[in-house]
Amino acid sequence: MARSILSTQSKIPKNVFFYASNRLLNTAAAFTSAASTPPPLNLAVSPAAPTVDFSDTKALFGSLSTLEVLHAAASLHVAAVGPVVDVGMWVMNSKLMDVELARDIIFGTVRHSFYRHFCAGEDDTAVGKTVRRLHNVGLRSMLDYAIEYANDEESCDRNLRGFLRTIEATRALPPGSASFVVAKVSAICPLRLLERVSDLLRWQQKDPCLNLPWKLKTFPIFSESSPLYHTLQQPNPLTNEEQKSLQISHQRLMKICQSCVDANVPLAIDAEHTKIQPAIDYFTYSAAIIHNKDHNPIVYGTLQAYLKDAKDRLLLVTKEANKMRVPLGIKLVRGAYMSSESKLASSLGFESPIHNSIHDTHACYNSCASFLLDNIAAGSSGAILATHNVESGKLVAKKAYEIGIEKLKEKLEFAQLYGMSEALSYGLRNAGFQVSKYMPFGGVDMVMPYLLRRAEENRGLLSASNLDRQLMRKELGRRMKEYLRGERRAF
Ligand SMILES: Cc1cc2nc3c(=O)[nH]c(=O)nc-3n(C[C@H](O)[C@H](O)[C@H](O)COP(=O)(O)OP(=O)(O)OC[C@H]3O[C@@H](n4cnc5c(N)ncnc54)[C@H](O)[C@@H]3O)c2cc1C
Repeated sequence: MARSILSTQSKIPKNVFFYASNRLLNTAAAFTSAASTPPPLNLAVSPAAPTVDFSDTKALFGSLSTLEVLHAAASLHVAAVGPVVDVGMWVMNSKLMDVELARDIIFGTVRHSFYRHFCAGEDDTAVGKTVRRLHNVGLRSMLDYAIEYANDEESCDRNLRGFLRTIEATRALPPGSASFVVAKVSAICPLRLLERVSDLLRWQQKDPCLNLPWKLKTFPIFSESSPLYHTLQQPNPLTNEEQKSLQISHQRLMKICQSCVDANVPLAIDAEHTKIQPAIDYFTYSAAIIHNKDHNPIVYGTLQAYLKDAKDRLLLVTKEANKMRVPLGIKLVRGAYMSSESKLASSLGFESPIHNSIHDTHACYNSCASFLLDNIAAGSSGAILATHNVESGKLVAKKAYEIGIEKLKEKLEFAQLYGMSEALSYGLRNAGFQVSKYMPFGGVDMVMPYLLRRAEENRGLLSASNLDRQLMRKELGRRMKEYLRGERRAF
């Protein structure tokens, strides 16, 4: 984590601890083999174990103006209406987007609605304002220059400049307010090359005799349980031109890492589709081996718990990092590409790489999170627990208190997407944890793939935003009553 992180503790209301969850988390000690299912740790629920409180909406949303609560509630309500999302997605993927006037109207509409809710601004200045606003209410920011998928070297160079500008911009922000800078490898290495490298890495997993002369030192990328169906035939070796492009892409990542070291802000590298994820992990781990030093993980990779092999890979990577004495940084997410992953696997005639049920994904997330907490307590690794899931938030908070929050505090970050799960973010902040909002920024056209993923995630009455919508309604009602009783000057 950043070498000089300011604690948010000073801004935390003191009376908001609450006894809520009594479900049990698993422990790292139970991970004796990559394939075994860990038994739950028998943690008795101590009456002194505080966790996250959602009952007091004033404590949760007190730092937001009524206008901000109203805007957030309205945006989330609209985003949860299935037909609105369907029409929006149809329009975005239609030929209308090729007509300049129609595109301008569509982008203008998105800019004043979903964009405003889910994105931090179009440029560094706008983002700086948002970061300061969040810092003032005790939340930190993960700055995501939201570019993804480059097809040529020129775009990769342009994107590199965008990432470097973002890192530079963190220097002018209040210390500790920018917790991480985020990058996608698909923005700095041509997509086709990521596919080729992933194919070759997969083939080497099938046939360990395959020599990959360009391969740098890395942590394990696959486990015994990793599916390899994307690569059905032995791929050709990289051409000289491809090897050169790979080297240049690696140098781009090195520049980003060095700039993060200089600016003292860690880098979180996002996970993407399984088709290219082996190459992304390869880039991430080889950079981590070079830059993660002195108990200070600068480069964080991302693990998607919806993948069946996630836990096995986490165990292997941790073991190797410990052996090499490299502090490991992991961002744990459930995963955002569920429908495309399942579609691709079934089109190739293979089983989906994603857990068979959402229950299995939740169990995998919670046991990986527990393992990461134990790792932090035992050494120098760091973790970002990125989730909107209230149950996971409560479970992790409870275990963190049992381990001793002071032992974990600086190396443990909870994170939610900007515009989502405000109740969980503020609840965790109130319970004494470091909490970040993941803040995409950039032009409307640039963030469209991100916004479409959020639209998909928020649709339906049981979406991730359901709790927020309920609690915001309750808070608006509370403020209205105060206003009508004359205890509040304005609504
Ligand atoms: C800070 C932050 C960073 C992120 N970075 C990344 C990233 O780098 N890469 C990435 O892919 N995503 C990333 N995400 C997105 C994240 O994966 C989604 O927000 C996440 O999928 C929503 O899960 P949740 O933990 O909020 O839990 P919930 O909303 O409780 O769970 C929903 C998730 O469960 C899984 N799921 C749903 N149905 C099923 C089913 N039938 N079977 C199996 N699994 C199912 C899916 O992953 C689904 O998204 C990030 C999220 C955050 C908050």
